[in-house]
Amino acid sequence: MAGSKEEKKMTIEDLPGVGEATAEKLRENGLDDIMTIAVASPKDLSELAGIAEGTAIKIIAAARKSADIGNFETGEQILERRKDVLKLSTGSKNLDNLLGGGFETQSITEFFGEFGSGKTQIMHQAAVNATMPVEQGGFDSDVLIIDTENTFRPERIIQMSKARGADPDTVLKRIHVARAYNSHHQILLAERAIELGKEFPIKLLIVDSLTSHFRSEYMGRGSLSERQQLLNRHMHDLLKFATIYNAVIGVTNQVSARPDVFFGDPTAPIGGNIVGHTATFRIYLRKSKGGKRIARLIDSPYLPEGETVIQISEDGVSDGV
Ligand code: ADP
Ligand code: MG
Repeated sequence: MAGSKEEKKMTIEDLPGVGEATAEKLRENGLDDIMTIAVASPKDLSELAGIAEGTAIKIIAAARKSADIGNFETGEQILERRKDVLKLSTGSKNLDNLLGGGFETQSITEFFGEFGSGKTQIMHQAAVNATMPVEQGGFDSDVLIIDTENTFRPERIIQMSKARGADPDTVLKRIHVARAYNSHHQILLAERAIELGKEFPIKLLIVDSLTSHFRSEYMGRGSLSERQQLLNRHMHDLLKFATIYNAVIGVTNQVSARPDVFFGDPTAPIGGNIVGHTATFRIYLRKSKGGKRIARLIDSPYLPEGETVIQISEDGVSDGV
């Protein structure tokens, strides 16, 4: 995995065979750093940049040589890094238990489910919780939210803050929200987040929703590989943030009924394997009666699968009664 060391910046123009025009084309298509090109397929690269496949192969080979593809770490080193892992309460003890203590730093936690299943509510609650003092289960931290669906509501932050006995103005001042207008903008904002992390103590980064722009912009089979590639890179930027700043990453995702992509499963999350393999914790949310939601943990590397019930009310996320 990417370490916390600063990388020396090499630009794509430094690659043999990439002139100004090619560089521009690559950038337009989101292939704007060495690593992204290193992991691209020759076919995609040649199509996106309008170059011969042979040239694409050479460019990729050069990118692979210079890309910092990361080093092997010993289990001991990884254990050492994991000692810094912190847990952030979701607001529900049930859900915290399901997650092994709450949202975990150095990881990506994904909530997926239908419209109205409570994904955005859970993210609002996490934002409030992260700003709370450490003694109260918070991170005493600032929060970044990349909002792609224009669903951030300060009014909800105010309600949830009051319910926790926190001063709403103080909480609101610590939550930094950016609207992402399209998938490229979203990718840029995640890169910018790494800069912002130097200015503010940010231990929670939210992307709500991770996939909506990608889903609407890349329709059909033809654009699927490009979409997955961009999404992959975006997820790795998020993971990088998580590692550098020992931060929680919370993302939301919809479910899809597109059989061409998701094998006909109407409850499958968008983004397929790319999102699935990069998110460490995936929770499937579904509605139940009276503001209740059922949360199901799927595919955790070290926790058992399981289900629990949470409540979403005016006060926010809780176990309910
Ligand atoms: P999504 O999964 O689409 O992001 P949301 O997180 O926006 O869904 O959940 C919307 C639901 O949250 C509403 O249908 C409602 O049940 C609940 N909700 C939102 N605001 C409030 C509130 N102020 N009081 C009680 N419940 C709320
Ligand atoms: Mg939402």
